[in-house]
Amino acid sequence: MTASAEKYTHQTLLNVTSLTPNLFTLRTTRDPGFRFRAGQFARMGVTKADGSIVWRAYSMVSSPHDEFLEFFSIVVPDGEFTSELSRLREGDTLLIDRQAFGFLTLDRFVDGRDLWMLSTGTGIAPFLSILQDFEVWEKFERIILVYSVREARELAYQQLIAGLTERDYLADYAGKLLFLPTVTREHYPGALGGRITQLIESGELERAAGLQMTPEHSRVMLCGNPQMIDDTRQMLKLRDLQLSLSRRPGQVAVENYW
Ligand code: FAD
Repeated sequence: MTASAEKYTHQTLLNVTSLTPNLFTLRTTRDPGFRFRAGQFARMGVTKADGSIVWRAYSMVSSPHDEFLEFFSIVVPDGEFTSELSRLREGDTLLIDRQAFGFLTLDRFVDGRDLWMLSTGTGIAPFLSILQDFEVWEKFERIILVYSVREARELAYQQLIAGLTERDYLADYAGKLLFLPTVTREHYPGALGGRITQLIESGELERAAGLQMTPEHSRVMLCGNPQMIDDTRQMLKLRDLQLSLSRRPGQVAVENYW
């Protein structure tokens, strides 16, 4: 990926927090002119030792009304971008595209009662942005956030999720959110214990939510691992839940991370 200088801004890293050796969160300054809708992503650039710039897409975790930008990142062993990104420290510079992109946003859905947000790993990022914005709480009666990780220590942003409905502007919506973490490689009390596709197939996810996935009521957002997204889309298709397109509104919106 390349971008000419006028297409991006230089932002400063304010905070880097490691969650596990392979996961970390980062917060940067935000250009006052940078606008995005909750659920969108930006292209982030890092400068390598030889002076070249590597670009990758990153979903915003922060909400559109925050003054900073927050991101949640994997470290891919020998990954071209994340090897560089994970070396950066507070005060270092990151490049961020002036424009935000992506269609994993609430305007994909014209109606619906229940919003299912199904994520694997860092794919939870756009859902955290959407949940920190007001619109989703007004638009849906029930919101089910499913977060699949391999090990419990990979569950990020637990305090943020638990504290959402304690925020003043969300206090009236306390009963709407159901958070369903699922940990696939170890037993973890309070979490489900299977992959998202297995949980849908067995009916366990709907039982845990106390809701059924139907074309009439459900709107489903999928983010993260492309295999999870493909397999889940196939299962949803069998229930008549279709991808939502501009020319044909449907029930499903997706963002593949690779
Ligand atoms: P790459 O060469 O890009 O990837 C190498 C391999 O690593 C991939 O083939 C895949 O197997 C694996 N991989 C890549 N990304 C991930 C991931 N996130 N989780 C697990 N395995 C992965 N990544 C984030 O960490 N956080 C985000 O918020 C995020 N948002 C994205 C939004 C969009 C729209 C897209 C397309 C991708 C997003 N990604 C995100 C992935 C990100 O762009 C890079 O792929 C990632 O930073 C790895 O870059 P790399 O050069 O180190 O490795």
